[in-house]
Parts: sequence; C-alpha cells; structure tokens
Amino acid sequence: MSIDSARVVCTGCDYETRDLMRPVRIRYQAADGKSVVTGCATGWCYDCADYSSIERINPDVLRKELAQKEQAQREARDQLAALSEGWFSRVRHRAQKGHLRYQLGNLNNAIAELGALIRMVNHRSSKARCLKCWSNKTAPVTFDAGNGTAQDFVHECGGQLRIIHDHSGPRFHFRVATYVLNQEGELLAEE
Ligand SMILES: [Zn+2]
Ligand SMILES: [Zn+2]
Repeated sequence: MSIDSARVVCTGCDYETRDLMRPVRIRYQAADGKSVVTGCATGWCYDCADYSSIERINPDVLRKELAQKEQAQREARDQLAALSEGWFSRVRHRAQKGHLRYQLGNLNNAIAELGALIRMVNHRSSKARCLKCWSNKTAPVTFDAGNGTAQDFVHECGGQLRIIHDHSGPRFHFRVATYVLNQEGELLAEE
C-alpha cells in the first residue's frame, strides 16, 4: 500500500513532524469473545511529547459520526424506495439502485462498527492510548477540513497544530498493521 505523508507544524513554535498516515487497524478483543475492528485517530501523547496515532474512542466524536451515518442511511433508503416505485421500477434505474445498495451495505457495516465501539467505550475506564508507547496520557488532535488547524488541542507553547498536505514528501509503502487490544486498550498481540 503506497500512501502520501503530510507535515504537521505548530503555529506557535518550530515544532514540526511528519505524519506518515500509516494505515492501522485495531481489533478489540473483549473478555466475552466479542471483537470490534476499527481504525485509529490522530492525537498528542504527553509521554512521547509528540504528535501520534491514538485509539479512536472519543465518545462525542463516535456519537456524532454515528448520527451522520444514520442520517445518510435514511436518505439512501428513501432514495431506493422512491426509485423502486411504479410499474417499470424493475428495469429502470438499475445502475443507480445498485450503487445505492452498495452504499447502504457500507453504511450498515459502519453503523454496526460504531455501535459496538460506543458500547465498549461506555464500559471503559482508560483514556485513549498512544499507539507508540501505550501511555494513556493523550489528547485528541482533530484537524479542521478547511484550514487544517486543530481547534481541540493547544501545544505547550500556546500554539496550535496544523496539518499541511504538501504532497512533496516521500511516499511510504506499508502493509496494514493490526493491533489486537483488550477493552482497556492494552496490547495483546500485533498481526
Ligand atoms: Zn508549539
Ligand atoms: Zn506515546
């Protein structure tokens, strides 16, 4: 898998790092045998004193995402129902309906994943862990899609972190790493 990297800079000091945007998969293995597969989030680790990938378990973010996906699911269902009405519905709009069904399948999977993740987060005591050192002294860093600046994190200098997709950096080849964690985010295995 070949991916772009981006620069992360601070608006207040000369801190700069490169986000390799390494594809990461996390599988939570609960004690009762159930598992949830998800990705990771971007954050700051106070123990690494560095920008880092962290667990994707911010309940507010997850609930917001779930609400958005459910809204999109309702819209796709309504559109599909509207296209399926009438005498010629079997033959008309075939491509469009196929696309909507595909979209609905993806949405159903994402909604199931988010629901399972939210149920797990509700029972969890540890904060999101850093995927480099596994410390839970972390904070989320969420870059604004417009100006690239993270509003939810203040660097120790008082500045803000900003992501710059300059496409000038090296491209990296990674295989997708899977971390197997328990419900508290402790590393059980790496695949
Ligand atoms: Zn700074
Ligand atoms: Zn760390």
